[in-house]
Amino acid sequence: MREIPSIEQLRQRPAVRALEETFGRTAVVDTLRAAADALRRRTAAGEPPPADAGAHLEAEIPGRLATLWSPSLQPVINATGVVLHTNLGRAPLAAAALARISTLGGYSNLEYDLGTGGRGRRDTHAEGLICRLTGAEAAVVVNNNAAATLIALAAVAAGREVIISRGELVEIGGAFRVPDVMSQSGAILREVGTTNRTRTADYAAAISDRTGAILRVHPSNFRVEGFTARPALGELVALAHRFGLPLLDDIGSGWPGPVPPPAFLRDEPTPAQSIAAGADLVFFSGDKLLGGPQAGLIAGTATLVTQVRHHPLMRAVRVDKMTYAALEATLQEFAAGRAATTVPVARMLAMTVEQVRGRAAELADSLRGDLAADLIDGMSTVGGGSAPGSQLPTCLLALTHQTLEAAGLEARLRASTPPVIARIADDRVVLDLRTVPPEEDGILLEALNAIT
Ligand SMILES: *Cc1c(COP(=O)(O)O)cnc(C)c1O
Repeated sequence: MREIPSIEQLRQRPAVRALEETFGRTAVVDTLRAAADALRRRTAAGEPPPADAGAHLEAEIPGRLATLWSPSLQPVINATGVVLHTNLGRAPLAAAALARISTLGGYSNLEYDLGTGGRGRRDTHAEGLICRLTGAEAAVVVNNNAAATLIALAAVAAGREVIISRGELVEIGGAFRVPDVMSQSGAILREVGTTNRTRTADYAAAISDRTGAILRVHPSNFRVEGFTARPALGELVALAHRFGLPLLDDIGSGWPGPVPPPAFLRDEPTPAQSIAAGADLVFFSGDKLLGGPQAGLIAGTATLVTQVRHHPLMRAVRVDKMTYAALEATLQEFAAGRAATTVPVARMLAMTVEQVRGRAAELADSLRGDLAADLIDGMSTVGGGSAPGSQLPTCLLALTHQTLEAAGLEARLRASTPPVIARIADDRVVLDLRTVPPEEDGILLEALNAIT
């Protein structure tokens, strides 16, 4: 035991001193102590001590410090083919969005009016762009679409009944359940119709002097097929307006335009269509089909958007400058008509199966070592509770390893640097390059070839 140098002696070693420069004294001392304690315990348990305990500890602590220091949030390669993968951070950001964020690391006019030199408003950033893309009079940005729904209901209909179809009382992953959000907002749920069929007359019969609004919710993550009925938005708008009520439309995702969405998404509602049909407020996510940062966009009439802005919850759901930076840059890519090549989500959705196959074939040909791959047909999904049932044909790389079974190989891929997240289908690990940015094909190949 006496052979283990003291912590102070260890700290005098040049290599340890260099580690203190990087990690700081406390982390290095704690790590030395933990490593020395572990060595003492091993020796006491009968393990032969190392010839030079000091050198042994010096060699051990960089690894321990690296583990301690590795960030909790780290990049991964999404090879699942789920474009909006909520567990993997949903929308990857556009280069333009990242560049804009990096210009806004310092001070900014977040709440400063450069014209008057006085206090300005945070909640008007991005408004002009959102209005131009949606055709709305006014718009405001909050933390996510759940927050948008919550604050809009609270601002417009607290204490009053909100009429909604039983077919739209949905749960969107995690804990977003429309009835629960409604009750948290202070609005009173007034459900009408049935799961599969709700008519305009059902809504009309429920309107009374207690009604505060009619709410439409896009059943984003499932599809009811067969004997179904749902009024057109325009019909509901006409009904609501006949009674002086606002029509609120939660479309969930929403391709912002002006370029048309990929053909397979043409049945998805867009914010512009919703505003054109007369909705008073429409809500949608910043990080679904829009492909921007996590945010909730609320667009609609100036009167109702002002009500939302002035609601006390606004302070709790407002967004940071980095969100505005990324959102404005992403919206500009759409406004300029080049999103299909510059916004990753739009680019991935627009990629043809031939393009995916070309990259997959190249990668398969470059595999060395214990892995081999076949190209097979498959389907990518939009994900993120968007476009249920939409088909997006793709080409998959089905991997086989000399010795590992699918589950073992999947775990090894997940342990790569960077981690590669794959799917298992029919007992094989499959990779879908649709969700891997083409510029990361090389990194993916290296990770695959490192698996032995
Ligand atoms: C996804 C979704 C939400 C929640 O949006 P977040 O941005 O994830 O908070 C709400 N409503 C609908 C219809 C959705 O699809």
